[in-house]
Amino acid sequence: MKVHLRQIHADGLHLEGEEECPIPDLAAEDVRCTGPLRYALDLGISEGALWATGSLVQPVELRCVRCLDPFPFDIEAKAFSIHLDLTGPEVIDLTPHLREDILLNLPAHPHCDREGGRVCPASTGSDAGTPVPEGTEKPQPDWSVLDKLKLKR
Ligand SMILES: [Zn+2]
Repeated sequence: MKVHLRQIHADGLHLEGEEECPIPDLAAEDVRCTGPLRYALDLGISEGALWATGSLVQPVELRCVRCLDPFPFDIEAKAFSIHLDLTGPEVIDLTPHLREDILLNLPAHPHCDREGGRVCPASTGSDAGTPVPEGTEKPQPDWSVLDKLKLKR
């Protein structure tokens, strides 16, 4: 994602759109891009520096470290912010910075229940893979309180 400094006027520049996934190499680590990077950025120039703030969303498929199932996840960088001194070329490539922020917000040990908002089939321990039928997991009523009351009589 390249920005030419001449595109940025005195009142700044708002950029919104989609960009090729900046982390295609992570497919080897079970992080697969399922769509383009979506961005909404505000850019400006002040005192010889380029600044940019905004938000990024990268839809991916992660693999749960517990049940090993792939599940969809949106890597969100809600407070993307950079400040670059303008020293060299007039064309600034933002891709390395976008990539860095996406990586910062990538869960290191993804769990499908925590990040994916579903019930992890491996979270019930030995019953891995077999969903518990509804109604059988209800907590037993605690009769010990009643028993104590009976004892007092
Ligand atoms: Zn899982």
